[in-house]
Amino acid sequence: MKLNDEQQKKLIEKLNEVWQQPKICSVCGHNQWDVSDRIFELREFHGGGMVIGGQSSITPIVHATCKNCSHTLFFNALKIGLIDKDVNSTSKTE
Ligand SMILES: [Zn+2]
Repeated sequence: MKLNDEQQKKLIEKLNEVWQQPKICSVCGHNQWDVSDRIFELREFHGGGMVIGGQSSITPIVHATCKNCSHTLFFNALKIGLIDKDVNSTSKTE
């Protein structure tokens, strides 16, 4: 799901609030990052099978990738406040 302008602004504000300066990569020591403009999802592992819905857990994430070494950090899009718990209501903004 692509972030709208308001969500992108909120993401940057929240990352600046919680991610202390300098934003050093723990792998290579550089400090330049690409921040995703989309929300992705992490699905619960079910032994290699694909389970959609039911009791299966999905975590919506946004990520920041180090421009030097590609180390990637995940941030929970729900906890950051980019989307509501009712995902169906936000997927229409795409
Ligand atoms: Zn790095």
